[in-house]
Amino acid sequence: MFAVIDIFRVSHLAAWDWLVWLWLGSRWLSLACLCATILVLAFTRWPYRRMVFFGFLGLGIAASLAATVARSKGAFAADSSGIIFVLSAFLPIGFTFRQSLVAALIIAVFSILLILFGPEHRPWADAAQLSLMLLTAIPIGAAGGYVREQADREQFLARNRLQELASKDGLTGIANRRAFDDHLTVALREARRSDVAVVLALVDLDYFKTFNDEYGHPAGDEVLRKVAMQLSNGIRRPMDIAARIGGEEFGILLYGASLEPAFAILEQIATNIRALEIDHCHAPQQVVTVSIGAVEWRGEDALDLISRADKALYLAKKSGRAQVVAVRHDDAGEPSA
Ligand code: GH3
Ligand code: MG
Ligand code: MG
Repeated sequence: MFAVIDIFRVSHLAAWDWLVWLWLGSRWLSLACLCATILVLAFTRWPYRRMVFFGFLGLGIAASLAATVARSKGAFAADSSGIIFVLSAFLPIGFTFRQSLVAALIIAVFSILLILFGPEHRPWADAAQLSLMLLTAIPIGAAGGYVREQADREQFLARNRLQELASKDGLTGIANRRAFDDHLTVALREARRSDVAVVLALVDLDYFKTFNDEYGHPAGDEVLRKVAMQLSNGIRRPMDIAARIGGEEFGILLYGASLEPAFAILEQIATNIRALEIDHCHAPQQVVTVSIGAVEWRGEDALDLISRADKALYLAKKSGRAQVVAVRHDDAGEPSA
């Protein structure tokens, strides 16, 4: 806008000498810098920060040129524009603190050089005062920018902490029900798109009520932690997840696995839990064991999948506990263990 307005404004000036052209040119340079930055941001994958940095520098230098010419023509009071540019380097426009500092310094130094050695010929004391003001703007802007960056960083950490609190189970440290549900939805969507097999398993501790009654709740909590640890150790792939989805119930999602390899993984997990040899005098095996029910995904939604896995778990409980039951549904939809 200024680039256009200037054409009308300069017509009031007496002489169209090279300074006026420089003035106009610096305005057009500002405009070109802006357009180039926007175009490059829109159509290339250049890093945003670097682009904004150089775009801003170009703008600042062009503005500083324009201000110098304006001053030397006595046309407008343009002293404040350099200061505004130095300060605006610390606005939240995507710079790191160091980038803001460097940009402000470059613009300030460039403006000061123009003030001291440019075409203005202003009194020395006057030039010194303006230069000093430009330099003073740097620490003022930097103080504000620094405080802002600290606040940003704290907010970032707080957000991460909140996210962790919202997705992790407080007792065992593994994923909670909410994270499990979220992950399940995403995994099923991805599996559908990539035509990948998925196995869902539900894990439930055997005779856990009597364990609590016999050894106390804190001991029960400790068992839950150890079992959770075995579950997370048992999964390998990045899209797999083990989560505590209820009191003493866990869910495992094995992504990209069909029923046979999944069965082997789950058997291993059950064996590892038994191998912890946590005493349980009311259990037939005299140690803490788990029952696991597993099913292969057949394209249904998450709720139906969980409900089928629940039935498999029920089968495992009914057939004597301490075992893995993997249910394959044939094409007719009939379960076969
Ligand atoms: P089953 O073999 O049929 O699964 O028997 P069970 O006793 O494990 O099943 P039930 O559902 O009757 O009992 C679950 C118990 O899990 C009840 C509760 O005391 C215990 N439990 C649930 N959440 C926690 C927990 O956070 N900490 C502890 N220590 N115990 C829990
Ligand atoms: Mg249960
Ligand atoms: Mg149980």
